[in-house]
Order: sequence, then C-alpha cells, then structure tokens
Amino acid sequence: MQRIEANEATNYDWGILARYTRQGYFRESRIKEIQHPATPFLQFNLTKNIKQFTIQVTQNCNLRCKYCTYDGNYNYQRIHSNKIMTLGIMKKCVDFIMARSSGIAEISLGFYGGEPLLEIENIKKCVDYVKETYRGRSVRYVMTTNELFLMMKILISCLKTGLMCPLVLMGQGLSMIRIVFFRTAQARLTR
Ligand code: SF4
Repeated sequence: MQRIEANEATNYDWGILARYTRQGYFRESRIKEIQHPATPFLQFNLTKNIKQFTIQVTQNCNLRCKYCTYDGNYNYQRIHSNKIMTLGIMKKCVDFIMARSSGIAEISLGFYGGEPLLEIENIKKCVDYVKETYRGRSVRYVMTTNELFLMMKILISCLKTGLMCPLVLMGQGLSMIRIVFFRTAQARLTR
C-alpha cells in the first residue's frame, strides 16, 4: 500500500491489490459481524434438540494399531490410558442428554473408546438404566468396536463345547493375538 500511495507500485503490487479487492477487502461498507446461519437455532438445539451423543467409556484398547489416532503420533490428541468412565458418570451423561432432547423422536446414544467392549458390564447397566428411567423414550444404541473381544468370547465358548477351531494365523497374526490377550488382561488388572 505504501508503494501504491507513493506512485511506485509495480504490476505485481497491482495484481495483489486486484486479488484482495475481488475477495472483498478495501470496501467502503465494512462487515460489522459474522454469524453462522445456524447461530439463531443454537440455544434451541442445545436445550431441546440433541439428537446424538457419544460417551467415551474407556481410553484403553486391546489393540495398538499403528494408524490409531490415540497412538501418540498426533499432536493435540490424547493417548491410550487406563482411564475409564464410572457407571455413575455414564448415568449423569444420560440424564444430561435426556433433559436436552425433548424435541427428538429417537435419540442415538453411542459408546466409544478405546475399545468399549472392555467396559461391557457398565455399558449393559447403563442401557438398563436408560430403559428403566426413561420408559417411552426411543433410544438407538450404537457402539464403535474392533469386535476382537466378541471373537475371543465366541472362540472360548466353542472350545468349551468341544468344537475344534483350527486357527490359521498369517503374517503378524500371532503377535496380534498376544497383544489382544495381554491388553485385555492388563485392562482388567489395572482397575
Ligand atoms: S482398535 Fe481402534 S482404538 Fe484400538 S488401537 Fe486400533 S484404531 Fe485405536
């Protein structure tokens, strides 16, 4: 701007000025306030219209995928830990959501981790609490899981019934199974 005001501007300077002018700078009328189109509905949405809520029931997982968001490779992201959410806090979350979703026909309640199946007993109790306390409310339950815990349970029950289950492990399969058993046992021991 100094070069333009001193009549010393180059073509390059004029080009930059033209670009900024096209983008809305240097107008006589200035923008006083910027507001998102949904801002007027924010109060209503937060007090009566919560459709979906996800509870992080544990920060632990029975796997350690290299690409995992919680593997310590990402800035500003948490890492795996033994922190769990107590049943009492889960119930408080549910009460919070129910009090703010009266305008919703069906609420989606998600359970997330880490691996939420490590906390399946508390999740089941939490679902029972919702069903008992909020009869008549329609709730869809969702869980984000790697399902390994389920596979292990099925495998163990098959073995208990005498069903032979030859396991074919390829590549890093064996070390993966070891990690799963170790992490699952560790998560239970460190309560
Ligand atoms: S299963 Fe999911 S939470 Fe667990 S380590 Fe892998 S990506 Fe991360």
